This record gives sequence, C-alpha cells and structure tokens, in this order.
Amino acid sequence: MDCVFCKIVDGEIPSKIIYEDDELIAFDDLDPQAPIHFLVIPKKHIQSLETLDESDSDLIGKIFLAIRKIAREKGIADNGYRIVNNIGEDGGQTVPHMHFHVLGDRSLQWPPG
Ligand code: 5GP
Ligand code: ZN
Repeated sequence: MDCVFCKIVDGEIPSKIIYEDDELIAFDDLDPQAPIHFLVIPKKHIQSLETLDESDSDLIGKIFLAIRKIAREKGIADNGYRIVNNIGEDGGQTVPHMHFHVLGDRSLQWPPG
C-alpha cells in the first residue's frame, strides 16, 4: 500500500520512533510545529476517524492512553499539551492514515488571536 505512515510502521521509511506496542506507534513529526510534536498512529491502516470500524473503537482509547504516557515521559504533562486529529480535506488531513498530533512545550496558539 502506498501510504507513508504504513511505510513508517514497516520500517521502509525511517522515523524517530518514541513508542511502540502491538497496535500503535508514535514518532516525531518531520516538520515540528512546536518544540515537542509527535504523532500517534494505529499500525493498522485506517484512513481517518470517518472510516474507523466500530470493531476498532478500542483503538481510540488506547491511543489517548499512549499519548498520556508519552506526554508524562516527555515532561509536558504538567504544563499541558494539545492533541489534534485532522479528518479529510477540509480538516487539513494530508496523510490519509489516521494520526493524532501531540504538541507540547509552547505549542502554537490555536485558534489564532
Ligand atoms: P496532517 O496534515 O495529515 O494532519 O499531518 C501529517 C503530518 O505528518 C504533518 O505534520 C507532517 O509533517 C507529517 N509527516 C508527513 N510525512 C512524514 C514522514 O515521512 N515522516 C514523519 N516523521 N512525519 C511526516
Ligand atoms: Zn497507512
């Protein structure tokens, strides 16, 4: 499958992997928008929340718990951090493999103003 994030899961494209378990991986974003910016994805190819099957709904809870664990390990949990999930074209999703951005340590002001 011609999916950048599936290739990261398979190790065909190198990345800075910071967490891995049976179902998920997390890695640093190539183009960080904050001093700490990583992505958490399911290993299984799911295009977005819009195509998530009900049988995969447990994944969402696991993703959020992995985010919390990594955020604590990275020392951003006390000051807080932002989780962003873009869905589809109008949502600004550029990689069609569901992923959750985690931005910490002075993340960009959003919404602006
Ligand atoms: P989206 O706009 O789809 O929500 O976010 C896609 C994110 O994936 C962007 O922040 C982009 O920097 C990141 N990205 C795209 N290609 C790669 C890659 O090959 N490696 C890594 N580590 N991040 C990538
Ligand atoms: Zn994929």
